[in-house]
Amino acid sequence: MKIKQIDVYQVDLPYSGGVYLLSGGREYRSFDATIVRIETACGLEGWGESTPFGSTYVASHALGVRAGIAEMAPALIGLDPRRVDRINDSMDAALLGHLHAKTAIDVACWDILGKSMGLPVCELLGGRTDNRLPVISSIYAGEPDDMRRRVQDHRARGYTAHSVKIGDEPILDAARVEAALADRRPGEYFIVDANGGMTVETALRTLRLLPQGLDFVLEAPCATWRECLSLRRRSTVPIIWDELADSDAAISMLVADDAAEGIGLKISKNGGLTRGRRHRDICIAAGLTLSVQETTGSDIAFAAVVQLGQTVPRRYLRCVLESRDMVSCQTADGDFPVVDGYVTAPSTPGLGVTPRMDVLGDPVASFT
Ligand SMILES: [Mg+2]
Repeated sequence: MKIKQIDVYQVDLPYSGGVYLLSGGREYRSFDATIVRIETACGLEGWGESTPFGSTYVASHALGVRAGIAEMAPALIGLDPRRVDRINDSMDAALLGHLHAKTAIDVACWDILGKSMGLPVCELLGGRTDNRLPVISSIYAGEPDDMRRRVQDHRARGYTAHSVKIGDEPILDAARVEAALADRRPGEYFIVDANGGMTVETALRTLRLLPQGLDFVLEAPCATWRECLSLRRRSTVPIIWDELADSDAAISMLVADDAAEGIGLKISKNGGLTRGRRHRDICIAAGLTLSVQETTGSDIAFAAVVQLGQTVPRRYLRCVLESRDMVSCQTADGDFPVVDGYVTAPSTPGLGVTPRMDVLGDPVASFT
């Protein structure tokens, strides 16, 4: 089996909630999605997506995704897409880094592998667990009462996990955490996520302002490795890493440094399902928990999240991100209903998506 053609599509995904606010005054209104179609000489096609969360979240941006694909695509024509590790070797040989560009190609190859075997991708990633996957909300950093209302709204829709964004000023942040957790129900899971927005000083002050006994994990408190380790040495709050847990080396090092209790594994940030599979296994081997997520994305990105999340044993899986909930544009059809706050991977071969060609339009680039 050989790759015959790679087509690249671009779709704008408006944020469904208007303006998404993140620490440091970052604002996001729409997300620029790159969707890749790989066609084989025998007529199979695979699909993948990479949608950065703007240009200021991690070191990835939409134009970089498409420029990276253009750099790598000529080296991939004629290769067997089912040999996913070898495809990644070839991408790495053509372009250093740029994992967000490699993701859409990698996921499309997994889609083809699944279709060629007649199996869903989760079976090829190690095999489906019998878990229903809890989806997590994404509560942007606003006024405390409004954040409490948005948690209530997601709770009413069945969500049992919530990612509450903070990272500005200690008194405001402490009020946000208290408000978001005010109506906490048994069995709910709360991530308090600063997206690297706090200094060690402001993180310690925020933690000291909070009442004892609030049940949450603190995600990505600071922007740098040194600051996160410094905070960890002086706090007992469980720590999750996200933005900094972005590669084989980083995840190995965070285990060696005993730097966290778990990670947020974002598939496009971490380079796709081939690398995501390895990051899952490093974490499980070390006893770290996983939230399988995306930076953001539409239906194709969410399908990859669910396929990988479906392979994480219950003890280690905290939640999966319902990225579709964040965007007001549907790029594909697939059997991924969220029922009472839970989703499971479909039994369809491959990724399980059928793209909506009327939404994708014409390719912005093609490589043969
Ligand atoms: Mg996060």
